[in-house]
Amino acid sequence: MPPNRQSGQTAKKHVAVIGAGMAGIACARTLAQAGWQVSVFEKSRGFGGRMSTRRSQFGDFDHGTQYFTVRDPRFEAALATTADVIKRWSANTVRVMDASGHVLASTGRPNDAHWVPVPGMSSLLKTWGAPLQNGTLPDCNVHLHTRVTALKRDGAHWTITCEKVANGDAKKFQHLLSGFDHVVVAIPHGQAHDLLEASDLMPDWQSQISDVLVDPCWTLMLAYPNASQPGLSHLGPHWNVARSTHHRISWVARESSKPGRSSVERWTIQASPQWSQEHVNDAPDRVKAKLAKAFGEITGIRAEASHAEVHRWVYAQTRRALGQSYLLNRAAGLGVCGDWCLGNRVENAFISGLELALAIVED
Ligand SMILES: Cc1cc2nc3c(=O)[nH]c(=O)nc-3n(C[C@H](O)[C@H](O)[C@H](O)COP(=O)(O)OP(=O)(O)OC[C@H]3O[C@@H](n4cnc5c(N)ncnc54)[C@H](O)[C@@H]3O)c2cc1C
Repeated sequence: MPPNRQSGQTAKKHVAVIGAGMAGIACARTLAQAGWQVSVFEKSRGFGGRMSTRRSQFGDFDHGTQYFTVRDPRFEAALATTADVIKRWSANTVRVMDASGHVLASTGRPNDAHWVPVPGMSSLLKTWGAPLQNGTLPDCNVHLHTRVTALKRDGAHWTITCEKVANGDAKKFQHLLSGFDHVVVAIPHGQAHDLLEASDLMPDWQSQISDVLVDPCWTLMLAYPNASQPGLSHLGPHWNVARSTHHRISWVARESSKPGRSSVERWTIQASPQWSQEHVNDAPDRVKAKLAKAFGEITGIRAEASHAEVHRWVYAQTRRALGQSYLLNRAAGLGVCGDWCLGNRVENAFISGLELALAIVED
């Protein structure tokens, strides 16, 4: 490492981490703890990515990840450092329903506990990301509302091109930031593909990255505040969670059954991967109507919701993963991580980000 002329100490290496979801935060924290200077770039307004929370006047919805499971001791150890932010959700009695709402079978690995952050899905990464933002981890910073649009290697360093994003719209002005020793791309598969291609960095990894398949997912959120009146504990079925065999819907969950959430009756409904793919470009109102009808068929809830909205995840859940934890070009100082490297679970994203950071530190 080159000496730092001002202090006489060895200068820290500087890494740009693009994406503040589970993979990006796991990677950024590990590098910061190993003594790297870390700058995180995130296009949305906060930490979380697909572990995010959607606000409504009737309470919040976990409109991406529903819960996570823990099988790797390294993930377990990391979670233990902030144990007060996660709670066990009794969602193990998951049923499979037919289109008329008849239970076909029960599923779920009995020993696989389901965990949710409290008070909302985004709370875990907000907690893990805070030390990168508030000075607890020195020489680190977080640039929110900042989309990275291109990466360029100039001699020994990287320059990244960014644009500010406000209310979902990119502002026209762009700015360049330079001097990074390393760049980590920790964004969903399709967006990583596009960023690397736009930056002319795909050739090495073209065939591997193009082989990955990720399904979209339309998600419907419904709230029934009138169901929470005295004497009426909840609306519709007595179960809280179901995997469904209905051709439109694969998952329904009562948000208000999760720990730490408000009691207003709220449901999150995920369309099946196939239906989401077939209707990926449909108008949101049309999707809302079709999913609400199917929800009524499964649950018997025909009442009109006081709040109904849909969200389209273009890159939701991995169908065919890369098959290795990360991609790393050591000579160029460029790494890629994300859930899609290993699978479709939060824990996959954590392991991918962690193992990429450890490989970078080894150099
Ligand atoms: C509907 C749905 C349900 C799911 N259910 C579950 C579940 O029940 N259990 C489970 O374990 N997993 C579930 N998952 C999967 C889980 O959410 C993911 O595996 C995990 O959150 C992925 O983390 P990540 O860091 O790889 O990516 P992400 O969480 O997508 O993070 C990537 C981040 O990069 C940012 N970004 C993208 N492009 C740029 C750019 N150019 N510049 C700057 N920032 C950028 C994004 O805004 C985002 O914050 C679900 C996912 C979806 C969508």
